[in-house]
Amino acid sequence: MTFTASPWPNVPYSQPDWPDTWLRFETEYSDAHQPSRLVSHPGVPYVATQTLSSRPTEADLGQVGLDYLTKLHDFLTARGHEPVYLKYAVDSLSRKIVNAFKWLPLWPKFGIPIGSSAVPRLASWNLSRAADHDVPASVILVAAEVYGSDNQISPRAGIRVPMTVEAHGNTYSVRIRSATVEFPAGEDAFLTDLAARAGPSSGPGMLLAVSAALERLYSGDDITSEIANKAGVTQGSVTINDIQFHPQNLMNWQTSPWEFSIQATAHNANPTRVPSPLGYAVCGVFRFDSIGEPTPAGVIKQSDPVLVSVERTPLVTHAAPQGKAFVFARTPPGWAAPAGEAYDWSGRRPTRDDGVLDRFRSLFELAPSAHVDLESDGFRVCVCPGYAPEDAGQPPLTTKTVHLPNGHDLQPRRDTFSAVSAYFNCFRLFRLMKRFGLPPHLFNVRAQPEMLVFYRYGISPGPGKSGRTVNAQVKLDCKTQGKPVIHMNLALAELTKWDRPDPPDWAQPLGIATSGRWIGHEFGHYLLAARLGQLEFDFAHSAGDAIAAIMSDPGSALAEPPGNGVAASFRGITYPFVFATRRHDRIAEMGWAWYGSLNRSVIEDPAAGPCHTKGYLTEQILSTTLFRLYRALGGDTVQADGRADIPRRRRAARMALFLLFRATAGFAQPPSRAEMLELGLEEAGWLTLPPLPLGPSAAPDPWQGGTTHKVVRWAFEAQGMFPPDPQRMHNGPGDPTPEDIYVSDRRPWTEDTLAGPVQYGPGAYVPVSLDWRADARWLSDPANLRVGNRGTAQAQSVGLRVWVGSDPLSPPDPITWNAAAIDLLLGNLAPGGSIDLLSLPQVQTLVNGTVAAPGTLGLILFEVTCPNDRANTDPLAQLPPKAEDSGAGLPETRQALTDLVANDNNLGLVVVRP
Ligand SMILES: [Zn+2]
Repeated sequence: MTFTASPWPNVPYSQPDWPDTWLRFETEYSDAHQPSRLVSHPGVPYVATQTLSSRPTEADLGQVGLDYLTKLHDFLTARGHEPVYLKYAVDSLSRKIVNAFKWLPLWPKFGIPIGSSAVPRLASWNLSRAADHDVPASVILVAAEVYGSDNQISPRAGIRVPMTVEAHGNTYSVRIRSATVEFPAGEDAFLTDLAARAGPSSGPGMLLAVSAALERLYSGDDITSEIANKAGVTQGSVTINDIQFHPQNLMNWQTSPWEFSIQATAHNANPTRVPSPLGYAVCGVFRFDSIGEPTPAGVIKQSDPVLVSVERTPLVTHAAPQGKAFVFARTPPGWAAPAGEAYDWSGRRPTRDDGVLDRFRSLFELAPSAHVDLESDGFRVCVCPGYAPEDAGQPPLTTKTVHLPNGHDLQPRRDTFSAVSAYFNCFRLFRLMKRFGLPPHLFNVRAQPEMLVFYRYGISPGPGKSGRTVNAQVKLDCKTQGKPVIHMNLALAELTKWDRPDPPDWAQPLGIATSGRWIGHEFGHYLLAARLGQLEFDFAHSAGDAIAAIMSDPGSALAEPPGNGVAASFRGITYPFVFATRRHDRIAEMGWAWYGSLNRSVIEDPAAGPCHTKGYLTEQILSTTLFRLYRALGGDTVQADGRADIPRRRRAARMALFLLFRATAGFAQPPSRAEMLELGLEEAGWLTLPPLPLGPSAAPDPWQGGTTHKVVRWAFEAQGMFPPDPQRMHNGPGDPTPEDIYVSDRRPWTEDTLAGPVQYGPGAYVPVSLDWRADARWLSDPANLRVGNRGTAQAQSVGLRVWVGSDPLSPPDPITWNAAAIDLLLGNLAPGGSIDLLSLPQVQTLVNGTVAAPGTLGLILFEVTCPNDRANTDPLAQLPPKAEDSGAGLPETRQALTDLVANDNNLGLVVVRP
């Protein structure tokens, strides 16, 4: 291997009697028929380094990935686990067995512009935010099965190994903290698995025979023409996404029948009238009566393939259940009343007159001139001749052009205003993606580069074909050759009231395009369709409700602390301007838990796959979880006067959305379980290199990587992930990590809910205002300083470091830190146990003796760390916030210090005021 790897795991983890609570190794819910595995060890990185004259190659990274998986496999085996899928992976990638597994090429390459080469549907993703894709970079190394000579890749079976690649001069270092393995659900076996089960003497022959069978299936037009004829789709449009293997008798695989199921997308060949579905997901099952066996001469005798069955499902997803209507007004930023004005609660409804609705609008510059083509990088708003009279006669798919009247605004009930709103609301989301280093040409790999947005459209199936419905949808149009086109179809916000311009004289409605929250929901489907080629998660409808809730919360009058005339519970309504039941403050105790009564059917069933969608209730469990994450990251922050601190809430919202968007970009195989998304969000944090500029100007500090994974885990834990026993119903919070040590702070130990108080205990991340007032609850209390263990296992070898710093009250002078004043070993800490730090004379002396110099705040920073639960500042964790005993590496600004301490319960901060 080109790179040199440090021993992994190193001492003490390699000692046979050392508890392996530092390692998360998950087995799936045993009745779920979803063979998937995830492994993570954020505090114990695998590290490989090498001095090279040029950038590491894909082969270099592949060798590192294989070395890591080999060490991981050996360690798990030594500890009595049976990591069978890891064994296949290691044997496959090291070519110990004949197989179809390969590391996929890196895309984009390091330091090279993409050029005009084709965008791969699946690759080892280089997520570098640099313009030339150079290091430092997060790389998601991906292995998948590649079949046949046309490089058909199975997207649903494979391995991903996320890593950071950094350079110091010519020395490159790779760090790995997690890996995931996904395999087809249920009976949908994948080939390497079958070959391994057939045994070492028979398996290689099976791989050859199946490869030959696939060549026959793919040769000529047989496969697509048969599917097209039977499914009623256009032959040229059939795009094969996946193939699965079903030998009828594995022991006699040579002579007994084999079935291959093909999953594809295709264009509807017989659209009756617009709007009928444009695209279908198609599952076709082919059968070989015998697959044969290679003879010594290399000849394989096989029967002809027969198409047994075809099933098709429209590629459509709805925001609203059929037959029900949600009603909205406009996007929330417009709803916050200007300071000093009473909140106009009654004016919010979309049934109000234009004059009332108009008060909730603010001026936004769309373009430098009054003549605007409604298109931007990644999407285009199209004319809607069947629905908007002013577009009549225009060719379909023409870009919508608007002429903005000079000096006065468009009335809300105008088709043109719907078009402008569709553009504005999409533009904001695409702009956010670009700021996150995920522009459409890097993010959208499964569809045509441009999403088409229809600002007034009919919705089908269902009663909304006329376009007179309150709804919206995202569709895949598979008409074109190659990748499908993503369509966003937008109907109406409100049905009863239409307005009649003069002239012309047709009545016009309020479009649903005017609701930024609704567009946020649809954008959740765009993310999945663009990156994974499917409209919904296998385990949930999408993260669209979470996007809508989080992006709209900062600045919303509903999120102001109580006393502004709106009930506090209104903050949890995802679409607040209707009497709808969608909420993002669902209570785990009432069944809205990952392993609770309302999610049971989802975790017990096989993964859905593209032909069956489900997981609608789960979306509210997900939106509640992610909204809690946003709140813990700073979404509850208030100013000195008690009002919402909008810039800091916006910063927290951007961070939460960054983690979600980056997690989506970092998937390879579609995640079969919510745990895969949870880990993806953790990874997005520790893979963030360099720090992320989040703005706005009031809080300019960039967000440092390696600071968010613990609070991500807690947000899911509080919603019932990590249950004590996955086999049993669990309506309540899950378990913490086995060893979870903390420094006490002033946060509440319970949260009041409609189901009564929920107990989190000390050391949790209960959302509080992350401000610097004297009584701020994320800060530690100098009169009550404890170190505890909220985990379920004894914490081994807990160490304490304490630094004293000085914060000048007049920025931009940086915070300065002295060398650690205390560095000692506290010993072991029992689960549930705690130590009074003030009983230690050194700590007592330090706390009593620290005073703030005039014009400064005194700071005392406590770090507790142990091998199985490292503080993010612990140099041995090798995370970006690592702090030396000298104080080097500690934050120099309040915002950075807040990000660090509030999101890591191993850290505690005491502020000493003059
Ligand atoms: Zn939806």
